[in-house]
Amino acid sequence: MLSSKQIEKIRADFPMFKNCDKVFLDSAATTYKPQSVIDAVMHYYTHESVNIGRGDYMLAHNTEQKVEKVRSDVARFINANKDEIIFTSGASESINVVANAYGKQYLLANDVILVSKGEHASNILPWFKVAKATGAIIEYVDLEVDGTLSVENFTKAMHDRVKIVALAHVTNVLGNIIPIKAITKIAHKFDAIVAVDGAQSVPHFKTDVKDLNVDFLSFSGHKMLAPTGVGVLYGKYEILKAMDTFYEGGGSSARYDICGNISYRKPPHKFEAGTMPIEGILGFGKAIEYIENIKIENIEAYEQNLLAYMLEKLNGLDNVIVYNPNADSGILAFNVKGIFSQDVATYLDSQGVMVRSGHHCSKVINDVIDAADTVRASIYFYNTKADIDQLISALKTTTVENCVGLFI
Ligand code: PMP
Repeated sequence: MLSSKQIEKIRADFPMFKNCDKVFLDSAATTYKPQSVIDAVMHYYTHESVNIGRGDYMLAHNTEQKVEKVRSDVARFINANKDEIIFTSGASESINVVANAYGKQYLLANDVILVSKGEHASNILPWFKVAKATGAIIEYVDLEVDGTLSVENFTKAMHDRVKIVALAHVTNVLGNIIPIKAITKIAHKFDAIVAVDGAQSVPHFKTDVKDLNVDFLSFSGHKMLAPTGVGVLYGKYEILKAMDTFYEGGGSSARYDICGNISYRKPPHKFEAGTMPIEGILGFGKAIEYIENIKIENIEAYEQNLLAYMLEKLNGLDNVIVYNPNADSGILAFNVKGIFSQDVATYLDSQGVMVRSGHHCSKVINDVIDAADTVRASIYFYNTKADIDQLISALKTTTVENCVGLFI
């Protein structure tokens, strides 16, 4: 377990804690960055600002080697092989690649893409689009009212026509941890592939793609200390080898001719057309290093402890409805009775606490929980019990009168 002394030391690594005196409880949207990540971005622009994969000079070569080292670091972090790591701009792009490349290549009319109503827009809109293009059908696994997805309900939802299962490992509104390992086992018996949205899971607990046996895993750097604009698509190598490209451009082909015959490079490069987000990738490397120094297992244990504290305090407030009172990750969804979620968030900000409100890019979850929109407080390992205490005391004074006063 991380001690409060260690957390204090950790917080000193993040300039945002010096530059913003508000409590930050919106890490599910994006995380703060440690100085080492910021320095890596600055170093690229001030010492190695060249393109990679193109220049015949040492600086280009050396910078490319650094980028390839980050690929190995990311692979180690999720127990993948280096050639299975494709750099993208983020989880959204990764999922769009899977849908538009794998989906369009293999789906036939009446095939089924199985999702849940707890998905982020990024893990549902690409599937809507590919379903329209191929004649495939979207089906939903039933969720419980607190957003839980049981293996039993998943089993009921599976059948021979399901070809793709697309689910988040941790959902972004209710923070439910989905039993992906059991789901993958069942899906594979039906020869369906499993594409996991790991945007909210990879930053918080150990993700081992070999153990989970998932076929694709998408995640974003910026939700795990890295810069925005860089993410990862993991895919099993044999699948990537046979999969069509989605983007075309420089760097992805070995040769092509005037008739349009293209000979692609091997994965992952065949999927990385165009100039890569080099500074983002280099920052990502430092983010992985930072997390590995702390150890992801310690991060998970610390967050679970903080979550238990937050749940106990929040569940004890009479004026608050918690939609995931048994939450199993560091995301809490709630409303203050009778007050619009955005008004609550604005009031909390006035009390020095930054949270998010609204639909959280997940517009069909309202069918499952009894709320049109929610306030979301989400933690990362740099948050403390004092942060939670400030949220709770602000919520105690969240009244219609106090909220209305803000807008006059
Ligand atoms: N999936 C989930 C579960 C998310 O929470 C998010 C980000 N809110 C995304 C996908 C999309 O990530 P990005 O915006 O970094 O592409």
